Amino acid sequence: MKFVLACATACIFAASATAQQRQLNFEPTELRGGIVMLSTGAGGNLGFLTGDDGILLVDDLLPGTGPLVEAAIAEIAGEGVPRFILNTHYHGDHTGSNNHFHAEGSTIIAHHNIRTRLANSDEEMFQDAAFLPILTFGADLHFHMNGETVRAVHVPSAHTDGDAMVYFENADVLHMGDTLFSGLFPFIDFAGGGSVEGFLEAMETGLRIAGPDTQIIPGHGPLSTVEDIQASIDMVRATRDIIAPLVDEGMSLEDILAMDPLAEYHEDWNWGFICTPRMVATLYIDASGAEDVSPLSTRCN
Ligand SMILES: [Zn+2]
Repeated sequence: MKFVLACATACIFAASATAQQRQLNFEPTELRGGIVMLSTGAGGNLGFLTGDDGILLVDDLLPGTGPLVEAAIAEIAGEGVPRFILNTHYHGDHTGSNNHFHAEGSTIIAHHNIRTRLANSDEEMFQDAAFLPILTFGADLHFHMNGETVRAVHVPSAHTDGDAMVYFENADVLHMGDTLFSGLFPFIDFAGGGSVEGFLEAMETGLRIAGPDTQIIPGHGPLSTVEDIQASIDMVRATRDIIAPLVDEGMSLEDILAMDPLAEYHEDWNWGFICTPRMVATLYIDASGAEDVSPLSTRCN
């Protein structure tokens, strides 16, 4: 269990050294209400709200990227240090600059389980208490700033056990964190408290919050709409319906992988982190209940 958890985070961190070395290419997209989506292609998508009451930043990218994130925000907002940072979950590509911004005076906020997971992490870097959120919440939390009402909503046992999605009510913009991998096979962190059923329920919650015009920032992937959430739900349900009966027949993961049962989904949903074999492994783990196995221990070939 511990090994799996270490791998889940280490695998994400493995990408971080390269990301820092090659300098990140920040791509800002201006959304309604002064909200900006900031993508780099490495690590999770950031979103921030600016105004007279200061900056609210959702997620802060990979370890070691704090000064780059600060500079990218400053270029757009005039100042780069957020008043508040909200982490959508504990993974290092969403919490990696907590220490930098903590030192700059930002207040880091997250669900209770995020603080617990970071505090108990085996990763050496997280032994620095500056990574830990100093405000934590349970079911939900509201911000009232810059003329906007921002609602953080916890969804249990989805991508992890500490996920929150963040809805900017007036602007009608929703940051879903890693409860939406838009157009991509999702990573379910079983060792981090995630589950396929909870992940589906989280996306259904996203559909209940969002409307036809909502601008949706996914944790990974391009700016999205409710159609993209629905497509992800349909894909997870359909692929689960393919894999679960094979597991019920008693087939091993190796035998199922050899059948290439998700071939028809490969072209549209495969990507470097969760390749098609890892999606098969995800659904195998889900159906077999073997949750001490990580999808990341399956090779992509
Ligand atoms: Zn994640």
